[in-house]
Amino acid sequence: MLSAAKKVCAVIFDWAGTTVDFGSLAPVRTLQRVFEEAGMPITEEEARRDMGVAKRDHIAALLNLPRLQPALALLESGVDALYERFIPLQLACLKQYSTVISGVPELAAHLRMAGIKIGSTTGYTRAMLDVLLEEAAKQGYTPDCSFSPEDAGAGRPYPFMIYAAAVKLQVYPLGAVIKVGDTASDIKEGLNAGTWSVGVAGTGNGIGMASNDFQSLDAEQKAERLRKSRMELQAAGAHYVIDTLAELPRVISDVEARLNGASGA
Ligand SMILES: [Mg+2]
Repeated sequence: MLSAAKKVCAVIFDWAGTTVDFGSLAPVRTLQRVFEEAGMPITEEEARRDMGVAKRDHIAALLNLPRLQPALALLESGVDALYERFIPLQLACLKQYSTVISGVPELAAHLRMAGIKIGSTTGYTRAMLDVLLEEAAKQGYTPDCSFSPEDAGAGRPYPFMIYAAAVKLQVYPLGAVIKVGDTASDIKEGLNAGTWSVGVAGTGNGIGMASNDFQSLDAEQKAERLRKSRMELQAAGAHYVIDTLAELPRVISDVEARLNGASGA
């Protein structure tokens, strides 16, 4: 008897910069405000460098910047105090950065038609994720499951949120699962889990600005932002880097061809 063709069984999406919040603006604005208030202003580039990891880990990584060490020495409280301040500020502004990225509801419908389950993971806390879930649902996007670092015991680059999603979705093997995200930590999460890792370069952290601001750049500036963004995801080890999620069906077909023994692209 012939065995059935192998199919991709699930896609696990990131949130900010991948399915909502074009340019991944919400965390950057909030981190910059928290550090500014603490007397240690950080640049946007610094705020974006470790994007995608659990927010407490992100704050801890920023506090390790050599440039901040003198200011930090004067500060009585470290990461805990900054994190305590970060949580309410991020929750307060999250709704305004919850716009679903163009094409996502249509892609989700396409995946479901193809029998592919939809999971999600994030660097946000559970409470933050719940805000996004509610807002995204109003705009037509609801993944089949969603996991935050606290739900799974650790955030990116650890693979545990993906493992939790696979159990919840009842899908296996992880070699037939695709993880999609906009940051290097997303790519590493997928690689550590043993999934295919797909970087989306044109809507997230590497673009770093709202959709209309990006669209108003001239062709050369746009190309340069995209080039840098692609390079970062490529350097993190992505199996595929795409500009937008509109290219994901092509990636799925290619992965399926490779699962079934084609040499692949
Ligand atoms: Mg993201």
